[in-house]
Parts: sequence; C-alpha cells; structure tokens
Amino acid sequence: MPIHWFPGHMNATRQAIKDRVKAGLDVVIELLDARLPGSSSNPLLAALTTGRPSLKVLNKQDLADAAQTEAWLAHYNAQPHTRAIALDAGDKAPARALIKACRELAPQRGGLAKPMRVLICGIPNVGKSTLINTLVGRRAAKTGDEPGITKIEQKIVLEDGFYLFDTPGMLWPRISIAQSGYHLAASGAIGRNAFDEEEVALELIAVLKGRYADRLQERFGLAELGSDDAVLEAIGVKRGAKIRGGAVQMHKAAEALLGDFRAGLLGRITLETPDEMAAWRQAAADE
Ligand code: GDP
Repeated sequence: MPIHWFPGHMNATRQAIKDRVKAGLDVVIELLDARLPGSSSNPLLAALTTGRPSLKVLNKQDLADAAQTEAWLAHYNAQPHTRAIALDAGDKAPARALIKACRELAPQRGGLAKPMRVLICGIPNVGKSTLINTLVGRRAAKTGDEPGITKIEQKIVLEDGFYLFDTPGMLWPRISIAQSGYHLAASGAIGRNAFDEEEVALELIAVLKGRYADRLQERFGLAELGSDDAVLEAIGVKRGAKIRGGAVQMHKAAEALLGDFRAGLLGRITLETPDEMAAWRQAAADE
C-alpha cells in the first residue's frame, strides 16, 4: 500500500456509535466529500448502524464536478432506506434541506414525545464542524484543518424534537483500496507525512488526463500533455521549481499541483465515479 497511514484506534468511536444505536437512533447522516464520495466513506459506520435509514450528505459540492455529483446522488438514492443530498456546509438553505430529508426518512418521528434522533458522522476535515455551525446558526463546533477531539457525545437541538448527535472520537478514513488512498491524500484528508506527494500528484495527473485534460492544460499553460512524469515536470517548470543546472524539483511541482487542486483552482473536479469505486472494491475483495 503506497499510503502509510496509521490513524488512531477507533475503539472509542465504535463504542460511541454502538451506545447511540442502543439509546435510540432514527437517521444516520454520513458526511462525504463530494470530490471522492466512495473513498471518503467509512464502512464501519454502515456496519454499526445496519437497518437505520441513511442520509448521505455530499459536502464541498462547490469543489466537485456537478455532473458527477448527480451521478453519485442517483447511485445513493437507488439504495434502500437511503437518501442523498449535496451541499456546501457553509450555505444555510441547503443545510436546512438536510432536516427535511431526515423527516422524509423517518416520518414517524418528530415532536417532543417522539423526538427525531440523528447521528452525524464523517471522516476528519470533511466539513462536519462547519455544517453543524451552519445548522445551529452560530459557532457550536470547532472548525479548522486539524481534527479536534470531542470527549463526550454532543447533543445539538436543531429544533424542538429534532436532536443531532455528534459522536466523540474520530471516524478515520479506511484505506483498503490503493486508489482511495491516493484520492484521500490528494483531497487533503490525511496527514502530509503519510504519503509521498510526488506519487499522489502523479496519480492525480492520471485522473485529470482522463477526464479533465483541458483544465490541466489551461491551468498550467501546457500546450500538450505527455506522460504523467512529463506533465509533472512541465508543471514544475511553469511554477519555477527548476534548480540551477536545469533539473526540476519534482516535490515542489507536486506541491503546486496538489495545492491548486485542493483550493479548487483547477475548477470543479470529482476524482471517482460510482462504477469505478464498485470495480475497485470488487478487485480488492477478489484479492
Ligand atoms: P471537520 O474536521 O469535518 O469538522 O471539518 P471542518 O468543518 O473543520 O472543515 C474542514 C475544512 O474544509 C475547513 O477549511 C472548511 O472551511 C472547509 N470546508 C468545509 N465545508 C466546505 C464546503 O462545503 N466547501 C468548501 N470549499 N470548503 C469547505
């Protein structure tokens, strides 16, 4: 596995989710990164909450390819007891759509006698704190690039009879598929020291050449696209990553590309399709 990622153990998270299921759970919200919905999902959550209605929230849709987001929404909406919506965590109106979707998933719940109990989970950096803050209309959760650890379950009252529970601990990404590791690394979801930036940049170039070649050419002023290595080198030249003697510092080129991708400067891009993800999962299961 090219990504050397050893996240903290998840015993506390696992227990907290189990406790919530036992205490009463009507809808599970899994927050996903719209640029990599499949790779940013953690199957542990599904395993611990089987049988509960599920709302997939594709966040950061402002950074993702709109057509691909539609394909992912259709993919999830076709699954039983599942609904999917796409949003930007900072936007108020779509965040309210989330409440409506929960009501549709559990129409028997609501009101003070039978409150709606919703669990919200997502891998670090997916935008959970931002979304919670938008939903409550003030700063309730810590946001930032560093994952914050909350020790106890948070109960957030969104409306009378509508409770959102935020579990303590971390739902770390699971990397059982090489492509998912690359996509998580490219998106900024895993620690910088856990991967080789050059390797991740080369994988990103391969994806971009396949579906977004024009964006790559336009952003870096490349008249043509050669091999993945040649593209990375050309990006380095354009970004002044050449050292005396003419060689290109490939890690600097990689940083430039990854930085631009994460900031959305290459335009709206989605790294994976539902079909690709299914094929990778199948190949991993066959191994
Ligand atoms: P958490 O670790 O899941 O709580 O993630 P945060 O809420 O702290 O967000 C992580 C980063 O993603 C922050 O820099 C946010 O500003 C950014 N972010 C969150 N939601 C969105 C979104 O919908 N679009 C964009 N472009 N950035 C977002």
